[in-house]
Amino acid sequence: MPCFSVRSSRWLFSLLFSFLLAASAQAGDWQIVTKSGREYVSAQNVAKFYKIEKLSKSGNDFIFQHPSLIMKWTTGSQKMYVNNILFNLSFSIEPHGGGALISTVDLAKLIDPVVRPSFIKKPIIFDTVVVDPGHGGHDPGATGKHGVEKDYNLDLSLRLKAALQARGFKVVMTRSDDRFLELGHRVAIANAQKRSIFISIHHNSTKARSAKGVETFALPPQGTAATHGSSRSGWSTALSGNTRDAENIALATAVHSHVINDLKPVDRGIKRARFNVLTGITKPAILYEGGFLTNASEAALIHDAAYRQRAAESIANAVVKFKSAVGR
Ligand SMILES: [Zn+2]
Repeated sequence: MPCFSVRSSRWLFSLLFSFLLAASAQAGDWQIVTKSGREYVSAQNVAKFYKIEKLSKSGNDFIFQHPSLIMKWTTGSQKMYVNNILFNLSFSIEPHGGGALISTVDLAKLIDPVVRPSFIKKPIIFDTVVVDPGHGGHDPGATGKHGVEKDYNLDLSLRLKAALQARGFKVVMTRSDDRFLELGHRVAIANAQKRSIFISIHHNSTKARSAKGVETFALPPQGTAATHGSSRSGWSTALSGNTRDAENIALATAVHSHVINDLKPVDRGIKRARFNVLTGITKPAILYEGGFLTNASEAALIHDAAYRQRAAESIANAVVKFKSAVGR
């Protein structure tokens, strides 16, 4: 768990957004360090570039402190915290002469779009959200004590639809009832919507009954492995979804940080996986896993309609914030 607290943080994204406006970007500000054939930049370089006044070291931890942003790196680890939200880096933070290095891939594909989403180039202008309730029909997904995943996914998605419509968005559902859809069909529905983003809704399961919490997935950048166990293949190929790398991670950050702050589940982090619904999509896209049906206390929460409503409102508010943060 992170060893720092954030003062009066309503939530990550709005803080970051105000912070970034203060950061100035100028070409030539980066000093690239090559280690084992991979390019990195130093913690000091990152602090200087983003005008973060304080950078301190405690054991293997490097802590960046700004009035509206606290970021923690740990050498040898792929886990990074920004304002207490857990991110999974594509490459470990490397120790270097008493300092620390972050890969230029994580700098460009994670830190920069998360810390200053208003700098994302040519973001999509969207007025539509494609909401994708995972599983359906003969595919129930995970099974919990009180019900099955496909039903919870659909219920939360319909609540999200209403919450988004109340905020002025158009919504296209990949399914509105209990039916089976091929993954490719879901992607085709998303890609047919020109001015849209895509949110796939799932609930989790695992053999370890103690496992619980929320995790949010974005597509890994080209040339990086997934941070999740499955879908590790194809990592050297550029996929359709990679055209939206910056928006994918910014959308994941908005949704994940909203839910973590509003519902206070265990934070399992923003992760990377080449799930089929994310690889072929040409719109900003994420896959949300709203808790574990295999955990008794979380299964009871997910079964509670009021909890699902709060999750829907939180995700809808995140979409509003994402839209304003990328400036469209
Ligand atoms: Zn699922």
